[in-house]
Amino acid sequence: MKDVVRMCCVCRKKQVKSLMIRIVKQNNSLEIDNNKHLTGKACYVCKDKNCVDIMINKKVLNRTFKQNYSCEIYDKLREELLDI
Ligand SMILES: [Zn+2]
Repeated sequence: MKDVVRMCCVCRKKQVKSLMIRIVKQNNSLEIDNNKHLTGKACYVCKDKNCVDIMINKKVLNRTFKQNYSCEIYDKLREELLDI
């Protein structure tokens, strides 16, 4: 099976999906899609602490999804991504 490549919303590097975290827009929230089951507009970020930190600290997803997400939503993402 051919590996599908996705682009990181932070560093714009392209990598195979298995090296990326999928984040899906859900109404007014953001969910980390560990099982690749969620539907909705999605973006990808590298499984890399640097990229995750920048994504959260600079609220990169506000621009990606054209919506203003609260600090609470980003804090929740940070908690869920701590073990990366
Ligand atoms: Zn990246």
